[in-house]
Amino acid sequence: MTAPEWSTDPSLLDTRRLDRSGVEPQGRPAAVVFPRTPEQVQEVLRDAYASRTPVVPRGAGTALTGASTAGAGAIVLDLTRMDRIRELRPDDGVAVVEPGVITAELDRAAAAYGLRYAPDPASLEISTIGGNIATNAGGLRCAKYGVTRDSVLGLDVVLADGRLISTGRATLKGVAGYDLTSLFVGSEGTLGVVVGATLRLRPLPDPTVTFAASYRGVADAVAASVALATARIQPLLAELLDEATLDAIDAADGTQLRKAGSALLIVQVDGGPREAADAAAVLGLAATDLRSTTDAVETAELLAARRGALPAIERLGRPLIEDIVVPRSRLAEAVPEIATIARRHGIPICTLAHVGDGNLHPIIVAGRPGEPIPAAAERAADEIFGLALRLGGTITGEHGVGVLKRAWLARELGPVSHDLQRQLKALFDPRGILNPGKAL
Ligand SMILES: Cc1cc2nc3c(=O)[nH]c(=O)nc-3n(C[C@H](O)[C@H](O)[C@H](O)COP(=O)(O)OP(=O)(O)OC[C@H]3O[C@@H](n4cnc5c(N)ncnc54)[C@H](O)[C@@H]3O)c2cc1C
Repeated sequence: MTAPEWSTDPSLLDTRRLDRSGVEPQGRPAAVVFPRTPEQVQEVLRDAYASRTPVVPRGAGTALTGASTAGAGAIVLDLTRMDRIRELRPDDGVAVVEPGVITAELDRAAAAYGLRYAPDPASLEISTIGGNIATNAGGLRCAKYGVTRDSVLGLDVVLADGRLISTGRATLKGVAGYDLTSLFVGSEGTLGVVVGATLRLRPLPDPTVTFAASYRGVADAVAASVALATARIQPLLAELLDEATLDAIDAADGTQLRKAGSALLIVQVDGGPREAADAAAVLGLAATDLRSTTDAVETAELLAARRGALPAIERLGRPLIEDIVVPRSRLAEAVPEIATIARRHGIPICTLAHVGDGNLHPIIVAGRPGEPIPAAAERAADEIFGLALRLGGTITGEHGVGVLKRAWLARELGPVSHDLQRQLKALFDPRGILNPGKAL
C-alpha cells in the first residue's frame, strides 16, 4: 500500500484551518493529509489513535458552523482526492461514491440516466458528498425529497481506531439492526470518517413549473405557502425572501423586486399540469404580481433572486447565517418576530426561508469582516434560537451545530438526551480524537 500524501506547508495549512463560518480556531493545524483510498484513511487513524492526535475530517470546508475548522496540533484529513463515482446502477436506483465527489457532479452523472440525486444544498457546486452526509445537508428541493439522510442507504466508515465498517445496505429497503447509517449522517465527523456511500437516486420528474409571486408583506406570502400544503400541493421548492432581503438584492443587482411587493415567494412544482394549475390558483389569490415559466432560461432568471440573495447581503456587512426550523403553521409568528428582534437590537436581519419545511435563515448583518462581532448581533442570535425552541422548533435545520451552537444544543436536547449522546461519542471514539470540540 502506498502512503498518502502529507503536507506541513504553512500556506496550505492556513487554507485548511478555516471553514465558511468566520470561526477562528486557536493556532494552526500540524499537518494536512490527502488519502486516496479507505486503507490510507485507516492507516492515518490507526496512527492518530495510538498517539492521541486530534483528526479533523474535511471535505470542501464550506461548513457555516465552524464544524470543519482545525486548530493547533490537529491533523486535517482532506478527503477531496477520494472523488470517484464508483458505480451508477440505474436499474437499482443507486450510486456508490467516494466522499470527495462534488454533489452537483453526482446529480449531473445521474441525469444521463434520467435520474437525479435529490439533495441540493445551495453549495452543491462546491461542497462534497462526504461533507453533506456529515452535516446531513438540506437544500432547496428538500421540501419534497427530504434532506441528505433520506438519500443515504449505506456507508463505509473508518472508526477512530482505524477499523473499517459498512452500515446500512445497497437495497432500497432493509431494516436489519440498529440504524447506524442514520447515526453517522449528521455526526459532523465526530463518530467516524465516511470513505464510501451508497446513495439513492430518484427519477427525473416531469417538466418543472417555476412561479415567482410577490405579496404586500410576509404574512400574505407565508399564508400562500401554507395554503399550498392545505391544497395538498407538494412543491419541490418554496423559498421566501423578506423585505430586507429584497432591498439588499435591488441595491446590489439594480433589480426592482421590492416594487412588486414586500415579500417574494418562489415556488417550483414538478407534479404535472394539474398540480401547476392548482398552484397558480393558490399563489395568485393574494399576490400583487405572479409570474410563471417552464423555460430553462426564464427559470434561471426567476431563481436568480434567491441565488443572488447571499452575495447581496454580504455587501451590507459580515453575514451570520442562522438556521432555525419551526412548525410550518408557526411561520407566520416567526417571521415578524425576527423583524422585531432586528429592530430591538438595531441590527439588520434579512430573512430567507425554505418555507416548504419551515426552515428559516435569518441572516444577521454583524459589522464588517475582520471586526469583532457586535454584542447586539450575539444577543439577536440568542433570541432567534430561543424563538425557535419556544415555537416548538429546532436550532438547526441543515447547517448543523459545529462550534457555534453547542450550548443551544444542550438546551434543545435536555440533560438526559445530551448525556446519552456524549456516551455514544465515547463508545465510538473513546480517546476523543475525532473532530474534538464540535457538534456536542
Ligand atoms: C454559499 C453556501 C451555501 C450553502 N448552502 C447550504 C444549504 O443550502 N444547505 C445546507 O445544508 N448547507 C449549506 N451550506 C453549508 C455547507 O455547504 C454544507 O454544510 C455542506 O454539507 C458542507 O460540505 P463540505 O464538503 O464543505 O464539508 P466540510 O465543511 O469540509 O465539513 C463539514 C463537516 O463534515 C465533516 N466531514 C467532511 N467530510 C467528512 C467525511 N468524509 N467523513 C466524516 N466527516 C466529514 C467535517 O469534519 C465537518 O464536521 C452552504 C454553504 C455555503 C458556503
